[in-house]
Amino acid sequence: MKLLGLLVSLLVFLRCCCHARFTLPYVPDVVRPPVPETVSNETGTETEDEPMDPEVSPGLFQGDMALNNDFYNYWRVGIRFDVFPEKLWKNGIVPYSISPLYEPSDQVTIIKAIRSINFMTCIKFVPWDGMAKDYLLVWPIKYPRGCWSFVGRYGGAQIVSLQPPDRRGPNCLGGEGRAIHELMHALGIFHEQSRWDRDKFVKVHYDNIIPQYKSNFEKQSLENTTYSFEYDYDSIMHYGKSFFSKKKGKHTITPKQPGVKMLGQRKGMSVGDCLKLNDLYGCFNKSAKSRRKYYMICNFLGI
Ligand SMILES: [Zn+2]
Repeated sequence: MKLLGLLVSLLVFLRCCCHARFTLPYVPDVVRPPVPETVSNETGTETEDEPMDPEVSPGLFQGDMALNNDFYNYWRVGIRFDVFPEKLWKNGIVPYSISPLYEPSDQVTIIKAIRSINFMTCIKFVPWDGMAKDYLLVWPIKYPRGCWSFVGRYGGAQIVSLQPPDRRGPNCLGGEGRAIHELMHALGIFHEQSRWDRDKFVKVHYDNIIPQYKSNFEKQSLENTTYSFEYDYDSIMHYGKSFFSKKKGKHTITPKQPGVKMLGQRKGMSVGDCLKLNDLYGCFNKSAKSRRKYYMICNFLGI
């Protein structure tokens, strides 16, 4: 059993490397970064009010997104499926497989994240039947470590990396929130603060950002973006105030709206996240009943 686990791990690792090699010509500075194993305290990503965040460690595009092509010039907070229909999980069905390398308690956390999305949206994660060509493979990838995901459907076995707890401290499975965050990327959702209109809502403090990560705070042009919902400070897809900070206590992004204290969270879907996902996957258009059902669920259960 152990040998089988190792063999599967090796196959996945090789597959992952193949992806990296394939994508290298397109986004060399994104998928093949100088990846630190973890971000050390010297880089200052840890602050008093916000512990070091595992999402900032992989060194991928905007921290935790692995880009598989040059579409990053054309994305929005949710991928435009009218422009990139191949990124959509057809009929909202997402086969998944969870690595046997996880401890049972970590598997439970991942399952909780999946069940949360299944309940709050019309998207259906289903256990991989061994036949479906496209599916998510939730795996504790070693390189790059951390919590990361591709954005939208990639095709074939698609990694979602969730680093399990270890002695180093930060991990992606302290609660189901981080798993939900990465699964939402896999469904086609980008970070909230990358909205073109974000400067009306947040201030980015570029002087406080580790120089090599400044591009993580870029926003996208209106040309390729449309938004159905209000800017969401509570989004599970929003950066925290100290993400990629040079120095302890120095914020990299702060809210402009008076009264807003926190930015982002990793507990569960906000009302906005829930509405956004249901909107993206057409759950509101299926029927009046479906529309009512998911609006009600989002408003009652969203953070
Ligand atoms: Zn992310």
